[in-house]
Amino acid sequence: MNGRSHTAVNAFSAVTINSVFHTVGTAYTWHQLTTLVMSPQLANALLSPLLLYKTTYYVLVVLCARLPDIDQYNRFGRLLGGHRGFTHSCLGILLMSLFFATIVASLPLLFVIGGIFLHPVLLAEVKVAFEAIVTGWILHIIADGLTKGGVPLFWPSPTRYGFPPKSIWRFKVGTIWEDLVLWSIIFLAGFGMGTGILGV
Ligand SMILES: [Zn+2]
Repeated sequence: MNGRSHTAVNAFSAVTINSVFHTVGTAYTWHQLTTLVMSPQLANALLSPLLLYKTTYYVLVVLCARLPDIDQYNRFGRLLGGHRGFTHSCLGILLMSLFFATIVASLPLLFVIGGIFLHPVLLAEVKVAFEAIVTGWILHIIADGLTKGGVPLFWPSPTRYGFPPKSIWRFKVGTIWEDLVLWSIIFLAGFGMGTGILGV
């Protein structure tokens, strides 16, 4: 998928994921949001850590939409097994998650050793950032799995996988079919938000 499609897929998938799993708290529907904006509770909502968590979550999921494609650049590409290699595999997700999980887990310890108190909101914020990066990364791989090229899930094995399993049923990057899939996702997400099924 091209970068623009990845960005849109990640943005609308993040909304859907939060609506179903409440990754960053209650999902506010369009109606609830407009009611809140016109109510006296707006000031409290703006000062609530929830706003910070939600902003971090959505911004990072969208920013990470293109991150696995870092392997398109020569210097990284060769190191990471070429385009759609390591960064598009289960091993890539695992090692990247371990890397960020180590940072998240060791941060409080480092601050305790340094004698610095880390506010619980900041700790929760780091956890949200970790979940957003992993979610954004996985969504990118799923989106690439919808294309003809597929993804090498079990890299270094070169076998590529996708959905539907037969590549003939998947679309080619940059064709009208990619736009069709993209606009279908945008339409469904817009419909979900407009009808109150989905929220942010
Ligand atoms: Zn990719």
